[in-house]
Amino acid sequence: MTRKRAISGARAAMDLCDLALPYVRSIAQYQPGKPISELEREFGISNAIKLASNENPLGPSPAALQAARKALADLARYPDGNGFDLKRALSEQHQIDPERIVLGNGSNDVLELVARGYLAPGLNAVYSEHAFAVYPLVTQAVGAGGIQVPAKDYGHDLDAMRSAFDDQTRIVFIANPNNPTGTFVEAPALRAFLESAPGQVLVVLDEAYHEYLPDPLKPNSVGWLSEFSNLVITRTFSKAHGLAGLRVGYALAHPSIADVMNRVRQPFNVNAIALAAASAALEDQGFVSKSRHLNAVGMEQLTMGFSELKVGYIPSRGNFVCFEAYDAATVYQRLLRLGVIVRPVAGYGLPSHLRVSVGLEEENSLFLKALKQALQA
Ligand code: PMP
Repeated sequence: MTRKRAISGARAAMDLCDLALPYVRSIAQYQPGKPISELEREFGISNAIKLASNENPLGPSPAALQAARKALADLARYPDGNGFDLKRALSEQHQIDPERIVLGNGSNDVLELVARGYLAPGLNAVYSEHAFAVYPLVTQAVGAGGIQVPAKDYGHDLDAMRSAFDDQTRIVFIANPNNPTGTFVEAPALRAFLESAPGQVLVVLDEAYHEYLPDPLKPNSVGWLSEFSNLVITRTFSKAHGLAGLRVGYALAHPSIADVMNRVRQPFNVNAIALAAASAALEDQGFVSKSRHLNAVGMEQLTMGFSELKVGYIPSRGNFVCFEAYDAATVYQRLLRLGVIVRPVAGYGLPSHLRVSVGLEEENSLFLKALKQALQA
């Protein structure tokens, strides 16, 4: 064997993973919902339904679709890197200064921007047990420590989270409503938490499902921004606006925090079609109301179905609900064979539950029928 060959052989034997930073090596990849096409390929079935990723069963707003089509003509050009039009629309809707807005490739992107701007090895972030998986992920990706606080009744225990802060804590993540449990902290408790949080801890309030809340329950979180300079609110167009495939989300924060986040973001992180569609979606509040209504009716249908089947569930304020499936891995597989994709949540510390997203009436019925069969089999 020539020397050259021996070296390339040694190279092949080396585990390239070992070269990665240790804290990156220990990250477990995010597990998305199974795509319909994959299920149909694997099981050779057609007409499968996906209730696994909290998507909007109505699809996108027609106004957003039209704006997206129009934007196709300009695809040779870079998008507006500052998202002027979308920021102006958001600033009008929320009545806040555009300097307080950071746009992201989905709200996952803005969650990561906060972590990249404010966390590093030696610092830490606090989040709840059963909370959204991206918080530990973005924390670990920058080498910071994650402090997971035990949940109370599947939801955030804000007092315990406050007690978990130490001098190195820079971020606390709160999902409200939380995914996957759907639990919700009402405005007075949230406000009290903000009052008690030290100024050097950014309170990242993830409101991805805010639009699904009935009006009287919606916290006036945007109004709190002027009082609490450490508050960062994140929202998304992926849920009630029906644009998950385009990837648009945003953060609202103090201008200095927004400035830091804008420094670490990619120059064109939101694409041109997404910018155009999101601006149009924001104006189509009728579609958001329709989505909220459909969700409320569908949630009722699902929870009544669970009661009839004597299946326990965690009451949810989102567009999804976690139900008790006992041997959840088996029930998940049986549902797949019956053409229904739901979401396993063992990775969230809920090995006996599955999460189902609220679908159209006929999808919810099909799911309940399949569940009855899957539980009996
Ligand atoms: N936060 C929560 C609580 C979520 O459930 C999700 C979507 N799964 C997101 C943020 C991110 O959504 P997106 O990146 O599509 O805006």
